Amino acid sequence: MVEIDTILLKVASRCNLDCSYCYVFNMGDDGWSNMPKQMSFETAETVSHALNNLSRIQQRPFAVVLHGGEPLLLGTTKLAWLLSVLRDTLSSHYPLSLQTNGVLITDRILDICSEHHTSLSVSIDGPQHIHDRNRTGHGGQGSYDKVRAGLEKLRDHSDAAFLFSGVIAVIDPQSDPQEIYDFFKKLDAPSVDFLCRDGNHTRLPYGKASFDSTEYGRWLSQLTDIYLSDSEPPRIRILDDMIKLLLGGSETKEGIGITDNGIVIVDTDGSITKNDTLKSSYNGADRFEQRWSVHTHAFAEVLESAEFAEYQATQRPSCATCQACPDLQICGGGMTLHRWHDDSGYNNPSVYCADQKLLIGHLRSYLASLQ
Ligand code: SF4
Repeated sequence: MVEIDTILLKVASRCNLDCSYCYVFNMGDDGWSNMPKQMSFETAETVSHALNNLSRIQQRPFAVVLHGGEPLLLGTTKLAWLLSVLRDTLSSHYPLSLQTNGVLITDRILDICSEHHTSLSVSIDGPQHIHDRNRTGHGGQGSYDKVRAGLEKLRDHSDAAFLFSGVIAVIDPQSDPQEIYDFFKKLDAPSVDFLCRDGNHTRLPYGKASFDSTEYGRWLSQLTDIYLSDSEPPRIRILDDMIKLLLGGSETKEGIGITDNGIVIVDTDGSITKNDTLKSSYNGADRFEQRWSVHTHAFAEVLESAEFAEYQATQRPSCATCQACPDLQICGGGMTLHRWHDDSGYNNPSVYCADQKLLIGHLRSYLASLQ
């Protein structure tokens, strides 16, 4: 049976923001529109039983992430109830966290998260003029001020050292890496997870002129130089993970190196689906043929199926170019969604291949210069 690394619980299918690049709402998938706005108490209890059963048959603890939409749309009462149910089911060895846009963070929410040992990661792209380009409300207004207010509450909380796990930032390759680096260093986030924009070979990501262009690779290489010349740099996952792999280490999260992380999503109606980032490939790309649900199936049944094994296998790149690539162990073919082409499916290198090669080469040169 495939080992599960992360279970994403879609506890709210709608969002209080309307970020232009969101793969849930704005990249062609309309799965959200058929989902209940929130996970019901009944579904949440069923999920909890299912997680309990999974914890009995899988030795290695798995992470549970409350996700959306925006998970804080649950409101304080339901959030407190849900986290208490999940914590009753899963000991503190099981990481429990929330991925939030930060707008709805209150002291009460943080107290609830602290009580149930649940950390928060906040999405923020950089200073206001960068962040507000894409991370807007439904009326087009920027969300920066509200996100910063939420972050201040998070940083000021007495349990902040545990609660604040880090930030996720989507790269704008037209931004100044020095300005972005300085911003996140000043923010004092425990870690920064820089993400490339979603896109694929048929619909090129924002900022990329062609498959061979290297806008993101150059941006990340500049960021690398700034990071490496800083005696007290923040943790930047993509760089830390790549350096670790280049030095012979292993164990990274999805999207870097050769990984077999088992990721499943439970939607607000209890449906069990694939990694939701696949939504950017085509409408319904995150759905299994078999319509599994926590209401009718145990996780074990799903994990032992041929269709799940096939989905799991797509994490590793299948194309001949990647198989022959000297950087395969570091790049891992990137995120599966970035390999998509409407004609050839996922059987391609990452659309960020040239960017990855540039960045990996840059890191290799740096490490060689130390010898
Ligand atoms: S660098 Fe390109 S060819 Fe090499 S593994 Fe990554 S995506 Fe595949």
